[in-house]
This record gives sequence, C-alpha cells and structure tokens, in this order.
Amino acid sequence: MKELNELKGVGPKTLNLLNKLGIDDNIDLVTYYPFRYEVLKRSDIYQLNQDDKIIIDGVVENIPSLFRFKNKKDVMNFHFNTGEILVKVTIYNRGFLKSKLNPGTNLTIIGKYDKLHNTIIANDLRFELLGEEIKIEPIYHSTYGLSSKQIGAYINQLLDEELVVKSYVPDYLIDKYKFISKEESIKIIHRPTEQNKLKQAINHLKYEELFMFMLKMNNLKENKNNKIGLKRNISFDKVTEFIKELSFKLTKDQEISVKEIYDDLISSKRMNRLLQGDVGSGKTVVSMIAMYLNYLSGYQSALMVPTEILANQHFINALELFKSYDLKIELLKGKMKVTEKKQIYEGLENGEIDIIIGTHALIQEEVKYYNLGLVITDEQHRFGVNQRSNLKNKGITPDVLYMSATPIPRTYALTLYGDMDISNIKTMPEGRKEVITYLKHNDEIKDVLNLMYQELKNNHQVYVIAPLIEESDKIDLENVYELENKMKKAFGKLYSIGVLHGKMTNQEKGSIMNDFRNNKIQILISTTVIEVGVDVENATVMVIFDSYRFGLSALHQLRGRVGRSHLQSYCVLISNQDAERLKVLTKTNDGFKVSEEDFRLRGSGDLFGVRQSGEMAFKMADIKQDFKMLLKAKEDSLEFIKSHNYHEPHYKFIKDRIETTNNLD
Ligand code: ADP
Ligand code: MG
Repeated sequence: MKELNELKGVGPKTLNLLNKLGIDDNIDLVTYYPFRYEVLKRSDIYQLNQDDKIIIDGVVENIPSLFRFKNKKDVMNFHFNTGEILVKVTIYNRGFLKSKLNPGTNLTIIGKYDKLHNTIIANDLRFELLGEEIKIEPIYHSTYGLSSKQIGAYINQLLDEELVVKSYVPDYLIDKYKFISKEESIKIIHRPTEQNKLKQAINHLKYEELFMFMLKMNNLKENKNNKIGLKRNISFDKVTEFIKELSFKLTKDQEISVKEIYDDLISSKRMNRLLQGDVGSGKTVVSMIAMYLNYLSGYQSALMVPTEILANQHFINALELFKSYDLKIELLKGKMKVTEKKQIYEGLENGEIDIIIGTHALIQEEVKYYNLGLVITDEQHRFGVNQRSNLKNKGITPDVLYMSATPIPRTYALTLYGDMDISNIKTMPEGRKEVITYLKHNDEIKDVLNLMYQELKNNHQVYVIAPLIEESDKIDLENVYELENKMKKAFGKLYSIGVLHGKMTNQEKGSIMNDFRNNKIQILISTTVIEVGVDVENATVMVIFDSYRFGLSALHQLRGRVGRSHLQSYCVLISNQDAERLKVLTKTNDGFKVSEEDFRLRGSGDLFGVRQSGEMAFKMADIKQDFKMLLKAKEDSLEFIKSHNYHEPHYKFIKDRIETTNNLD
C-alpha cells in the first residue's frame, strides 16, 4: 500500500490537513469512513414540482455566459439538453469551470429545479453521464481546505491497489456470520454499488469494533481478577453489629451491596466494583462500612473525592459515624500547612492513620502507605476510570470500589463495564418524599420567590443556581452578583445569603459551605456545579436558572441536592426554551428513567463520560443502535478469550493488539 505522502496530490499542506482529521497513515485513511452517502439517480424532470431537487444528465448546448460581480463572486448561465427537454442552467461561483464547459460536454447536474422558469439552479456539476445507473457517492467529514471529494480521491488511490488490512475478527467468526472479507468491506464502504452489500460490509466493521472493545473489557477483567488481592478473615457478625448501631435501617439494596462488598473483601480475588445508585440513595454509608471492614482486617483505607468540599463533608460524616470506634481518620487538603501535611504523610507511612479522605492527591502525589488495602472513589464519573495510580504501597494490591450516581441504563452498564462488578442501589431510604419539580418561564419569577419564601418561613434552606454562560467567567460572575442583589432585595432583611463561585479559593468555599450546613446561611447562590454530593438535609428548594443549558442527567443531579430527608422538597427549573425536554423531569424522579431519556435524546456520548473518551470512540458502531450486536460480540469475545484459540500463534496479532492497548494499572 502507498504511504500518504506517495499519493498523488498529497503535499505537506494536505498531509497537515489529513493529520487534523486524525489521519496519520494509510490505514487511517482507508478506514476513514463516509458518514453518509448521496444517492444519484436520474430525475424524471416531468414529474418534478417547483423547486424540487434534481439530478439529471445531458449535454451542454452553448458556450456559457459568465458575469463577475464586484465581490469576487460570479454567475454562469448556459443551455442544457437532457435528451427530452432543453433547460437553462444557472450556477454561482464556478466561473473557473467555464473553459471546460464547451458545447457537447457530457454533464450530470445536481441542483434545484425552478420549473416556472425552466431553469436548474445547479450546486454541483459532474463531468460524466449518469445514464440508467444509480450512483451512490460517499460523503466524508471534511475540513477547511480539504473537501470530501478530495478525501474520496485519495482513498480511491489506495483502493485501486491491493489493500493490506487485517480483520481483528477471528476467521471462524467471520465464517459464522458470513461476513464479507475486511478488504472487500472497506472497498464497498467507499464505493458502494448496492444497499444490501453495503449493509453486510458495515456489519463486519461494526462487529469488529464491538468485538475488540468487549475483548479488551474481558481481558481487563481477567487480569484484575487474577491479580491476587487481599484475603481477609472477618466474620459477618461484625457487619451486623455495626449496622445495628446506625441511626437508620439500611435499605434492602444497601444491605445487598454491603454483602457483595463483604464477599469481595473476604475472597482472595481483588475487588473491582462499581457501586451505582441515584443521588441520595445512600452510597456513602455503604462505603463507610467497607472501610470499617478493611480496618478490622488491619489495613488502611483511602476515600477519594473530586472536590475539597465533598472531602470535608465525608470527613465530618466519618468522624460522626466512627465516633465510638477506635479509628484514626484524617483529611488531606490541598492548602494545608506544610507541617500538617507532613504529619499526615508520616501517619500514612507508619500506619497510624486508618482512613484518609481527600481529593485525587491521595494517590497522585508521592504519598506512601503502610498497607493500603482499600481505595474508594466517590462520584466516579468525574475521574477517568483508568486513572493511572502510582501508589506507593507495601507490595499490596488494594481492593477498589468506585461509586457513581450517573445512572447508566442497567443493560448497557452491565455490558460495557465488562471489567467491573456492579452493585446497584435502586431504592431510596424510607420516608423520602419525591421532589416536586416545576417548570417556570423567566417572567414567572414571582411564583418562584413565593415558593422560596414559604419554605424559608418554615426554617428550611434554598439553593439557587445562577444563569451560566460558559464562554465567559466574567459574565458568569456578574450574573451571580446580580442575582445576589435581586435575592437581597427580596429576602435580605430576613435571611442571610451566601455566594459560591469558581473563582473562590477552596478555603472560602469551605467556609461558605459550612455556614450553609449550619444554617447560618439560608440561601446559597452558586454557579453551576455546586459540588456534587453535598448533603444538607434541611435544604428543600433547588432553583435552577437557564435550565435549558444543562443535560437532563445533570439537572437530575442538581435536583438530588434536595429531598434528602423526610421533608417535602421542590425543584424549580427556570427556562424560556426547551420545555419539551425539561418536562421529563417534572414527570419522574427516577434517575434511571431520566438517563434513558437523556440517552434517547443525546446519544451515548454524554452518558459514558465515565469511560475515557477514546475507548468509546467507535467509528462505525453505535452502542444504542447496535446493542444486539454488542451482546453477541460480548459472548463471542468471552468464548474466544477463554478458548485455546486466544493463545494460538494464528491469533497472536489479536492478542497483541489487546495487550498493547490495555496498558492500564
Ligand atoms: P448518595 O448516594 O447520593 O451519596 P448519601 O450517601 O449522601 O447519598 O445519602 C443521602 C442521605 O441519606 C444522607 O443524609 C444519609 O445519611 C441518608 N441515608 C443513607 N442511607 C439511609 C437509610 N437507609 N435510611 C435513612 N437515611 C439514609
Ligand atoms: Mg455521595
């Protein structure tokens, strides 16, 4: 196969543009697939109506007349004989083609038919006749300076020779599914002739992607499972005793999750588990129990969270929960005095500290552990799953528990997270009332203030999310302060108002959050995020301005900040647009349903933020549309990896590919 720079028409400039499209070598180029096709079929001009699209061939009748406008634009007119009718053709800004358009030239014209004036407004000319054939033209994603046509032409140069590409689908599976060979499939995809063949070709390439993806997953899972984890000897009575001391009764799903984690911990298999549960479902206490068990078996635990506010909150929770147990718990913050930090590092290294809570610094920095046995990450979707850890640990492979509130539809999750076990908390703690959600127009702000006032009068607290303009921090800030002024006008005499925004230091944020937690502040205004996971039971109203700017799942997360106790809570979505979509939230409080809907509306891209984007970037396959195929690929890949085939020299290239790209951990 020719290299890119050996292709006709590809110089340094084009090479650069190709790189920009992610095409670095000839294989990238032949696997740069069209994203759609244009079907060229000769129109029956007599059947067309005014302004219909037309595709028709014929010959040029006369020398075109060309008129140049002042602004470098031009227009050309000529007569065109289709064999059945003589029409006028008008085309803009192709003056440079004039010399090629001699009388008698064969052309296929694509454009719009102005029947009234018997004129075709052309937008494309092809210098060949179409005849009775139906042509399917591939259309590629292009970039400025490099058109779809050019890309097609380069690809054609490669297709004209013999392709050297190998399918990563084992040949017995290619036989089983009667796939067309990979070389043939690639040719067909770029030069399709009939629908049926095209579909078969696409199937091979989709399946290949899904098969390789699942193979990677299964391989990861095998590797992790084979890693010898810690085998602990703890009686389940310890769990029962601990649970009895809690101020509430665990929900059924919490109990099941605890049991699943317990089983992982006492087995020698390394735990690699995702604990999924909607916001407010009570994941934290489950993770605390896991840390308690880990402590009982003599190991240290690290709880990692994405923000310091959340770290602080977990720290407070942990101190409260373990106050009658003899555990040493510490909080590691970014901005600590050097001496304080040093003390914590020492405590971790000599094993004095049993539980350490903090942000990612816990494993990223050169923190040394005496015997770290369990690593928990909360709000997992904000980290990459495979964040490389450079744990300095005493030769132990710690168990890992991930927690996430990003609800991924279960069937998808089970399939995609082939490398993890999953525990699911589906139900909310007893006594919770569903949050009532309203959708309001900007000019209905009075209703919103009334609702706030009512709740404030009942001594409850309110979150307000300020309008957000992503492009500019400065405007965001102005919005926050403007909103603060408005709120002050409405409530300033009676209630205290606090502001949180991205430009504040962690310390400032922390102190505002504390004041809110202790009800010194009743109204908390914030730019987006408020930090995921904050838990203030007394807050009963969540007001979100410009709701249309958020995805449904993100709004659901924000809504989850209220409704965390027996109190009736409310969420108000303020928006002047996108009512149809936002309405979903007024109808359900079920995160899984919301996420299904988000999934339906926006595709998989957003949902799987958990996965590093590269891993999920399929060229052909679509997780949702091709889900059945994914399930097959899952089964087949599992069978393959467990069979002798996987170790045969014949399939070494597949194994190599998996193992070189699975450089995690
Ligand atoms: P999330 O799953 O969103 O992290 P949390 O763990 O923060 O949720 O729990 C939300 C709130 O519910 C906390 O205040 C927690 O103490 C409380 N909670 C957890 N489990 C139960 C339960 N079984 N019964 C009553 N309240 C519970
Ligand atoms: Mg949480």
